[in-house]
Amino acid sequence: MGYQTEPVTAADLPYLRRCVDLAREALDDGDEPFGSLLVDAQGVVVFEDRNRVKDGDHTRHPELEIARWAATHLTPEERAGATAYTSGEHCAMCSAAHAWVGLGPIVYATSTAQLTAWLEGWGVPAGPVTPLPVGDVAPGTPTRGPAPKLADEVRALHARLHGVRDPG
Ligand code: ZN
Repeated sequence: MGYQTEPVTAADLPYLRRCVDLAREALDDGDEPFGSLLVDAQGVVVFEDRNRVKDGDHTRHPELEIARWAATHLTPEERAGATAYTSGEHCAMCSAAHAWVGLGPIVYATSTAQLTAWLEGWGVPAGPVTPLPVGDVAPGTPTRGPAPKLADEVRALHARLHGVRDPG
């Protein structure tokens, strides 16, 4: 794979911090711990959401909601200038939606590779979708991540979801 992600910047961290808070809110409400923001070219948060799968619709990922919201509310130029921040790297479904609506960069606190390794380590069965990185699905989308400072906190949220006593 020739695909490379960039490091997160200091300016990214407050947005990622909010994503992790949204992930915690989701988990506390019985959903899965994922949260995401859409930030416009001026740095303003224009939309935020968190995972809402507890009622059985497992497409209710915040990154997919961002893509749909952006398609309805932003011009193509605004979408191209907007950045999606997320606590966990987009899945294949959400990467595809992000690219189809023409959004800009994706910045994630933790990567799909990290999450996959944690789940394997805990013996959690694999899900129904191949855990591809954004670059394998949306090669034209720039990415930054992960954010090492947030990894332990995100891992602990997923450990709680799966009933794992996380030694980290
Ligand atoms: Zn997704």
